Amino acid sequence: MNARVRAADPKQRIKGATGDWEIVIGLEIHAQVTSQAKLFSGSSTAFGAEPNSHVSLVDAAMPGMLPVINEECVRQAVRTGLGLNARINNRSVFDRKNYFYPDLPQGYQISQYKSPIVGEGEIVVDVTPTESITVGIERLHLEQDAGKSLHDQHPTMSFVDLNRSGVALMEIVSRPDLRSADEAKAYVTKLRTILRYLGTCDGDMEKGNLRADVNVSVRKPGEPFGTRCEIKNVNSIRFIGQAVDVEARRQIGILEDGGTIDQETRLYDPAKGETRSMRSKEEAHDYRYFPDPDLLPLEFDDAFVETLKAALPELPDAKKARLVSQYGLSPYDAAVLVAEREQADFFESVAKGRDGKAAANWVINELFGRLNKEGKDVTASPMSAGQLGGIVDLIAEGVISGKIAKDLFEIIWTEGGDPRAVVETRGMKQVTDTGAIEKVIDEVIAANPDKVAQAKAKPTMAGWFVGQVMKASGGKANPAAVNEILAKKLGLG
Ligand code: ADP
Ligand code: MG
Repeated sequence: MNARVRAADPKQRIKGATGDWEIVIGLEIHAQVTSQAKLFSGSSTAFGAEPNSHVSLVDAAMPGMLPVINEECVRQAVRTGLGLNARINNRSVFDRKNYFYPDLPQGYQISQYKSPIVGEGEIVVDVTPTESITVGIERLHLEQDAGKSLHDQHPTMSFVDLNRSGVALMEIVSRPDLRSADEAKAYVTKLRTILRYLGTCDGDMEKGNLRADVNVSVRKPGEPFGTRCEIKNVNSIRFIGQAVDVEARRQIGILEDGGTIDQETRLYDPAKGETRSMRSKEEAHDYRYFPDPDLLPLEFDDAFVETLKAALPELPDAKKARLVSQYGLSPYDAAVLVAEREQADFFESVAKGRDGKAAANWVINELFGRLNKEGKDVTASPMSAGQLGGIVDLIAEGVISGKIAKDLFEIIWTEGGDPRAVVETRGMKQVTDTGAIEKVIDEVIAANPDKVAQAKAKPTMAGWFVGQVMKASGGKANPAAVNEILAKKLGLG
């Protein structure tokens, strides 16, 4: 299927007064490159430093200063391009994008315009565990970030912090292939996961290290694309979804009233749940792009690219397919695990030498469930993979039941320790001794003659006895043994 002409699934259409509408979305993602130093200077990129403490003469645009490309940023852009299955351009050009802004001391941003470092690519996006779409990437280029104006530090003055000035960004531009808020959110989620696997951007949206310009238009199904509006700088995945829906409804309202959409730049206000105009096309900047005379075209050979390619980590799609085939996981479980590389690593440590499905079940349902509740991610787990694996082993060996295992999980989670030793010292072992189980069963039967009669008439009543016996044994009786002996004693066998 050609992604460029993808139509929206009929269920994604929006009902308007004049019929159905379809949303068309394309995203421009700004991702901060993971690198110690800035794109054209040696200043640190560390977050949260004192204002203007990471500013070299280049970043402050002192006269006569010359930019020098940071090779690590080039490597990161190429690695990202490879991760997006994209064409790598061995020759690209840095241009000056000219505009005035107080936090842009150069008076221009060094960016790439006609010749970006990375060309067309595509990524597979899971919209639901069973549905995926292919989204086209138009390009990826390198550019500098600007500084930051601070308006809240002084009653009458604005300050400028240039720490961010010159930090490397990758702008990743998608084709207009997305057809709903959910698809847009899933796309950003997947892109973020790929970047984090690659280690080329940490994806921290709260710090502004990944932000999106969201282009939205609407059309009647089958018609050509409508005029788009660009919603600038949306900094959370949830807000991206909200901005798409709110903007699409605004446009539909205008069109159904007989109006037309002005191509403009807008802002999303999450508090009010609306988008507002920032500037119209008429006010759009003329950036007067031209190649930066201070920088030669960026060139590298195929060997440079091949070396980077050979060292790429296993990426989410490949990892997911491998977890499904190697451990027999469902695509759903595999998708949950590969969402973060550390989660998949944790799972694989637990699954090593054990039953994959049992390991996935304990990792996803118990461990992730618990981590979620405490707002922690897997790297902050108080329980190690070795400890969780120990619990899984004890169940597999029949030493403890699944039910006791949950109690054990609780103990190890809060108090730590070796699961096998804890089971030993706290007497949590499952009772498989049939003599002991028989004794409990006999007592329960003797105390409940009426229920025995009922069970004989209605064999499903045996479940009640199982419950009583388990309770009397403190949950430690082996359920399989209980079922077997009970059936015999009640004459149901
Ligand atoms: P510009 O150069 O003005 O930024 P681009 O062609 O680079 O325009 O497109 C910017 C973004 O807008 C891309 O992500 C693209 O997919 C998206 N886009 C283009 N046309 C439309 C449209 N009609 N509706 C929604 N998004 C669109
Ligand atoms: Mg653009």
